[in-house]
Amino acid sequence: MSALTLNVDFHSHSTVSDGVLSPTELAARAKRNGVSVWALTDHDELGGIPEARAAAAALDLRFISGVEISITWAGKTIHIVGLNIDENNPELIEGLAKTRSGRERRARDMAIDLAERAGIPGVYEGALKYVGNPNLISRSHFARYLLEIGACSSVSDAFKNYLTEGKPGYVPHRWASLEEAVSWIIGAGGVAVVAHPGRYDLTPLALDSFFRDFKAFGGVAIETVTGSHTVDQYDEYTKIANKYDFLVSRGSDFHSPEDAEIDIGKLPPMPKASKPVWEAWFSA
Ligand code: AMP
Ligand code: MN
Ligand code: MN
Ligand code: MN
Repeated sequence: MSALTLNVDFHSHSTVSDGVLSPTELAARAKRNGVSVWALTDHDELGGIPEARAAAAALDLRFISGVEISITWAGKTIHIVGLNIDENNPELIEGLAKTRSGRERRARDMAIDLAERAGIPGVYEGALKYVGNPNLISRSHFARYLLEIGACSSVSDAFKNYLTEGKPGYVPHRWASLEEAVSWIIGAGGVAVVAHPGRYDLTPLALDSFFRDFKAFGGVAIETVTGSHTVDQYDEYTKIANKYDFLVSRGSDFHSPEDAEIDIGKLPPMPKASKPVWEAWFSA
C-alpha cells in the first residue's frame, strides 16, 4: 500500500474543544471506521492529547498529536492545523493559553447581542451545558443550544441565522497572528497546515497573498480532502497545493455524530496528484 491510500484522518475534535465525543470515544469511532492513522486537532487546546494517545495505543491505532489554531489574518479568521507537535512545548502551551483567553468575554458579549438583537435570553448559560472544557467555549456550543430551544432547525442553520458576521450573536475577535501560530507549531517540532482553505471568505488575490505569507513563515501543507470542502474542492485545492509546492493533508473535521458532513474515517480517496504530508512519517 502506498502512503496515498492510507486511511489517514488528521482533523477531528473532542469534548476538550467543540466536539461531543471524549478523546477515548473518538479513538474507538476512528478505529471502528477503519482509520489507519488518526490525529486529534482540538481548537487552541492540547489537553486531550494524552488521553487520545493512550486510547489509540490500546486499540492499536496509529496516532499523531495535533491542534487547530485560530488566527486572524487581514481581519479574517483562519484556522491553522499543527501536526506532530510536542504537546509539552512551553511556547506552544503559553501561546494557546493566550489565544483561548478572550473566549469567555466573547461568549458573554455574544449572549448579550443575542438577547438584545434577537430577543433570545440566557444563551450563555444554555451554551455552558454543552461545554466540556471551561476554557474553550465556542460558537458550536451556542449553536447546539440554539438548536435545543428551537431557534434554528440545525447546527448549520444556527450559523446561517446567528453567530456569523452581520447576524445576531456575532462578536468580532482577534486571535493569534499567522506568524505566531506557525512559529509555535514549528517550535514544537510540528508541521503547519492550512485547515480547509476553501472555506474562507477571501478573494483569489487575498488567498494568494495568504499562501505566500504562510509559506514565508514556514508553513508546508494545506488540507484538500476534508469534510469542510465540497467534492469539487478536493481537486481544486490539490492543483493549488502543487502550484505553491505545498504538501497536502486530509481530515474529516468530525465534531459530532449528529451533524457531521463526513464521519471520522469516511473520507473519499486522495486525488492521484497529491503529495501527502504523512509520506515522510508512514508508508503503509
Ligand atoms: P469559534 O472558534 O468559537 O469561532 O467556533 C468555530 C467553530 O464553529 C468551527 O470550528 C466549527 O466547528 C463551527 N462552525 C463554524 N461555521 C459553521 C457552519 N457554517 N456550520 C457548522 N459549524 C460551523
Ligand atoms: Mn469546531
Ligand atoms: Mn476549522
Ligand atoms: Mn476543525
